Amino acid sequence: MKQKQDIRALTKDQLRDFFVLQNDKAFRGNQVYEWLWRKGAHNFDDMTNISKETRQMLKSNFVINHIEVDQMQRSNDGTVKNAIKLHDGMIVESVLIPTENRSTACVSSQVGCSLDCNFCATAKLKKMRNLNPDEIYDQVVAIDKQSRLYQNHKLSNIVFMGMGEPLLNYKNVLMAIDKITSDEGLSMSPRRITLSTVGIPKMIKKLADDNVKFNLAVSLHSAIDEVRSKMMPINKKSNLADLLEALQYWYVKTNRQITFEYVIWKNINDKQKDIDALVKYCKKIPSKVNLIEYNAIDDGEFQQASSKATEQYVRTLEAHNITVNIRRSRGKDIDAACGQLANKKVEE
Ligand code: SAH
Repeated sequence: MKQKQDIRALTKDQLRDFFVLQNDKAFRGNQVYEWLWRKGAHNFDDMTNISKETRQMLKSNFVINHIEVDQMQRSNDGTVKNAIKLHDGMIVESVLIPTENRSTACVSSQVGCSLDCNFCATAKLKKMRNLNPDEIYDQVVAIDKQSRLYQNHKLSNIVFMGMGEPLLNYKNVLMAIDKITSDEGLSMSPRRITLSTVGIPKMIKKLADDNVKFNLAVSLHSAIDEVRSKMMPINKKSNLADLLEALQYWYVKTNRQITFEYVIWKNINDKQKDIDALVKYCKKIPSKVNLIEYNAIDDGEFQQASSKATEQYVRTLEAHNITVNIRRSRGKDIDAACGQLANKKVEE
C-alpha cells in the first residue's frame, strides 16, 4: 500500500494545486490550510466547513501527523516539562517556563543531538533525526495551551533551547518560525523568539543573509579557545575567531546585538583570565551576557563555580559597560532546566 503523505509537508500553493487537480477550487486549499495551521486541526473530520466527501478524499490521500504530550511534569516553581511523542514514537522534550509577566516555551529542534558538549545531558543521546516544521510548531501550540491553562495568559516568548542544535536543522527550524510568526499561523512577533546555537559560523552568516527577524543567542561558555574546545568540541572545527567573524557579519547585516550564554564552572573558567578574555571578546561585537546557572548532570564531573566567581564576572563586565544578567535555573526538581533534557523516564 502506498504510504500516505503528511499533509502538513505541503505548502499552501501545493495544497491549492492539489485541489485544482481534483477538479475543485484552489480556494479549498486555503480553507484546509487554515484548519491545518491557524486552527491546529489534527483530524480531517474537525474541518467542519469542508464537505464530507472532500474530507473522505483527503483521508484517502493524506495523514495529519501530529505530536502528543506523552508525559507532563509540573515543578514546584510552575515550570512544566513535557515528554512529547512524535508520530514515529520518538520522544523529545519541551518546557513551559512561567515568570511573573511572561510565559516562555523552550522547544526542541532535533531528536537527540550530534554535538558533544560535555556538560549537557542531551549530548549523551545520539542524534536520531531532525524535527519537521510541524513538529516544532506543534510544541509551541501545546505549550501555549498549557500557558493559558496554568498561567491564564498566552505564550509570550519562545526559545530554541531544548534538545538539538537548531542551526543543524536550518530549513525546518526556519519554516517552523515562519509559520509561528505568520498571520496564517500563530501571529507571534519574531522579536519574541530566540534561537540558541553552539555557534556554527557558516549558518550564522546564512541567517544574516536570510534577513531573519528573531534574536540570536550563542552558547559561548569561554572566550579562550583551549577551554572552549575542551567543553564544546565544535570549537575545534570552528574556533572563536571564526565565530567572531560570523557574528560581526550578522551584526553588520541585522544591526541587532547577540546574547552570549555563559556557564561558570569551578576550576574551568572561574579565574580572572577567563573574565578578561570574555570582556575582550564582547568588546569586539555588540553583545550582552547571560550567566546561566549550571545544572549538574548525573556524572557530576563539573560543578557550578562559587558565587564569588559569579560576582567577579558581573562586576568586571559591568565596569566595562557590558550588560550582564544572571539566569537562575527553573524546573530543576523535574530535570527541566537547561542541559537536563535527556528523556529521563518518570517512575509511574
Ligand atoms: N544547541 C543549542 C541549544 C540547546 S542548549 C545551544 O547549544 O545553544 C541551551 C543552552 O543550555 C545552551 O546555552 C547550553 O550551553 C546550555 N546548557 C547545556 N547544558 C547545560 C547544563 N548542564 N547547565 C546549564 N546550561 C546548560
